[in-house]
Amino acid sequence: MDMTEYKNIVVYIETTEKNPVKVGLEMLSPARQIAGELGGKVLAVMIGDGIREAAEKAASSGADEVILVEDPQYKMFHLDRYTNVLEAVAAKEKPFAVLVGGTQDGKDLAPKLAARLGAGCVSDVMDMKFADGKVVYTCPLYGGCVLKDVALEESVPQIAVLRSGAFKKAENPVQGTITERNISVSDEKIHLDIKDVVKEIAETVNLEDAEVIVSGGRGMGSKENFSMVKELADLLGGVVGATRPAIEDGWISRVHQVGQSGKIVAPKLYIACGISGATQHVSGIMNSDYIVAINKDEDAPIFEVANIGIVGNVVNVLPVMIEEIKKR
Ligand code: FAD
Repeated sequence: MDMTEYKNIVVYIETTEKNPVKVGLEMLSPARQIAGELGGKVLAVMIGDGIREAAEKAASSGADEVILVEDPQYKMFHLDRYTNVLEAVAAKEKPFAVLVGGTQDGKDLAPKLAARLGAGCVSDVMDMKFADGKVVYTCPLYGGCVLKDVALEESVPQIAVLRSGAFKKAENPVQGTITERNISVSDEKIHLDIKDVVKEIAETVNLEDAEVIVSGGRGMGSKENFSMVKELADLLGGVVGATRPAIEDGWISRVHQVGQSGKIVAPKLYIACGISGATQHVSGIMNSDYIVAINKDEDAPIFEVANIGIVGNVVNVLPVMIEEIKKR
């Protein structure tokens, strides 16, 4: 296969509440680097309804061109419809790679798109570089204990799911353009129809985009004590996270789970309260800028990844922290 005509990098930028998701803008940095090596362009694709402002943000964040696909049928995420749009864009633009953010919807979309395009797909990409004419993706194995470099030889386009927080937004981004494109999806390609999304039924929490996360683990001891985690998170304008045991004990709902089988997070500040630091939890917080850990066991593994460690009983330490912050 002649791969030389495949030069562009397509970045699918998801929106939430009509804003580009954080990982969407972060992906523009590695996309630019790879497109530069290939002599191609960074084409962002945005799908939705009433998302022009979000597209403007993407155009000023490092995309050469934002392909804006707006239509009432795209008002909410729909796996069949969105996959069809990306398939149509890929057929026209011949990208070397399509980058998708590692959100809940992105993780659904990427393998389906890869299957449609007969393309290779790598997931949970933490780094990527161009070497010897190939894009090399770095992905974690065994809950992050091992990092593996993967190259999808002979596969164009190739689909990569990038981890939220693994890449930094471009510092001096180019100003790109916005092109509106009409792409409609024929009904026979739709296997599922979503009539409405009822948000009230399920609690939602945006851990992936949070700048501050206060998380509690089994060491919080009880549901009553766990309320201190929420109080501290509220005071800091943050979001509550939790380990799996804290969820299994019914102290908080599953949407708050951080880690390998929960959310991968990248806040500026992560406060771990009564958390041992098991690999499955730590692999989800490694992209945090600053980690503070409170644990009564000075040998707890969480202290190996923490920037600040407080050895003490959470039941004593948290009220002091809360009082001090209230005074400021
Ligand atoms: P523990 O490991 O029991 O640690 C509690 C800590 O609290 C201890 O270090 C203790 O010293 C400290 N402590 C106790 N009392 C106090 C006190 N009063 N004050 C201060 N410190 C105190 N876990 C996740 O979190 N997220 C995941 O996504 C996830 N996915 C998994 C996937 C698989 C396939 C498997 C097998 C496991 C997964 N787990 C996950 C579970 C994981 O292995 C750990 O069991 C879990 O993270 C431990 O949670 P913890 O730190 O709250 O509890």
